Amino acid sequence: MTHEPPAHSRVAPGRLGRRASALAAALLIALPSGAFAREGVDVGPPSMMSKLVSADQVEAAARQQYAAMLQEASSKHAVAPPNHPQVVRLRTIAQRLIPFAEDWNPRAREWRWEVNVIGSRQINAFCMPGGKIAFFLGILEQLKLTDDEVAIIMGHEMAHALREHAREQMGKTAATRGAIELGAAIFGLGNGGRMVAGLGGQLLTLRFGRADETEADLVGIELAARAGYDPRAGVSLWNKMAAANRRGGNLEFLSTHPSGPTRISGIQAALPQVMPLYERAPKPPRRFDAALQGDEAPPRRSSGR
Ligand SMILES: [Zn+2]
Repeated sequence: MTHEPPAHSRVAPGRLGRRASALAAALLIALPSGAFAREGVDVGPPSMMSKLVSADQVEAAARQQYAAMLQEASSKHAVAPPNHPQVVRLRTIAQRLIPFAEDWNPRAREWRWEVNVIGSRQINAFCMPGGKIAFFLGILEQLKLTDDEVAIIMGHEMAHALREHAREQMGKTAATRGAIELGAAIFGLGNGGRMVAGLGGQLLTLRFGRADETEADLVGIELAARAGYDPRAGVSLWNKMAAANRRGGNLEFLSTHPSGPTRISGIQAALPQVMPLYERAPKPPRRFDAALQGDEAPPRRSSGR
């Protein structure tokens, strides 16, 4: 029996060498503005509302809640062990996506990413602030997800964390709660921490607005593309979700992520921005589709794609 170390311990933080940064500085001076239009999707700057509560406090609340969720699941023997095939698969995929996370949020360099699989038939997955990822077995098995589709969901959920959508929501809630508490939250004084803990009570079941969902879709397909996973799987994924919904099922995910033509057409419209990234990206040396896509897949496959 092999024991894989957790994904975060195997991911080296990226470093820009001194020469590279000197070169970048020289280029910044040499090139006219506009020459640095970023390749990939464009989602604009992060929301100012997220600045109203401290990222440290939000991430601390998420850490606590994630640990509590794991503990609860563990007491029911519902946390998949590190050598579980789906855990190995998800951690392999996460390792390919994580190096591109810091482009979206420099804090991600310090995050201790965790990826776990919960033995529940619920169709659900999330990434809490600070990089705490969980997939429920239901979403993997009932939707018979391909590796590309797993990468799309993971990228989408990571995007919520990287773009600090939970922090933004807490900021909005805090903004409605009067200046004294708000001041405490901004300066980290008095009961600010407790307030964030209170606001964070629902981190596991947070529902984001449509703008945040669109943002997560776009950032998610870009993360997947850069990691060598086909961003077109965004379309097949949401079609599968919609089909599963029509069949009726335990679609926790769809209650927070309505699937519809708008979402799919938004992804389709962004594909030209990310397909070149995908085409250039090194592809995953190891794929798990055949073995883990579900009972319709043949048990064994001769060519590893
Ligand atoms: Zn979402």
